[in-house]
Amino acid sequence: MSGSVVLFGPPGAGKGTQAGRIVVRTGKPQISTGDMLRAAVAAGSELGMEAKGYVDAGLLVPDVIIIGLIAERLQDDDASSGVLFDGYPRTIPQAEALSKVAEVYAVISIEVPDDAVVERIVGRRMDPETGDIYHVAFNPAPSGISSRLIQREDDNEQTVRKRLSAYHQQTAPLADWYAQKGLLVRIDGDRSIDEVGMAIEEALSGAL
Ligand code: AMP
Repeated sequence: MSGSVVLFGPPGAGKGTQAGRIVVRTGKPQISTGDMLRAAVAAGSELGMEAKGYVDAGLLVPDVIIIGLIAERLQDDDASSGVLFDGYPRTIPQAEALSKVAEVYAVISIEVPDDAVVERIVGRRMDPETGDIYHVAFNPAPSGISSRLIQREDDNEQTVRKRLSAYHQQTAPLADWYAQKGLLVRIDGDRSIDEVGMAIEEALSGAL
């Protein structure tokens, strides 16, 4: 199926975790603006230096930077028959820019209450070798790899609260924007990874 899918929701909703499953099912590449920005920060590139202050403060990186980043990424061959967007778009101007360069056929909104988001994010850990995401209590990593897990610098309670406030003010209005276009599918994300994954597969079943 050509066209793209958007995974939408607050930080910690499980977008990255669920993206992994959808990539396996669809073969579409995952495009995560958060991962791209972290890679740029780690590489010390100009983009990374520009973005770092915003990411560390829990604020959204300005639209003009993000829109340019996506436009460039969509030029790659693997993006030609649609991609899975994870964490993009996050503002209405980003969604408007996206509508000009890609055909989105579903926006999966993974809905999780704020308190659960905070609990999930402060316990979140990542395997730097595979990008796999775990949680100290809810989804522990196998013992062999637990020593190499890292915690994102912006995954502390204070920054999470700021990221949540950016989400409510700037990103949440996009749900209505996509609902009006008939593209929004709301999924209860406050369940196990498997249950959420199955609900997403069902929602996309006609299209997968
Ligand atoms: P994430 O990994 O999706 O939680 O993103 C981590 C951080 O990267 C966010 O808190 C923002 O500072 C920045 N970021 C990621 N995606 C976007 C986006 N689409 N627009 C603006 N900022 C973004």
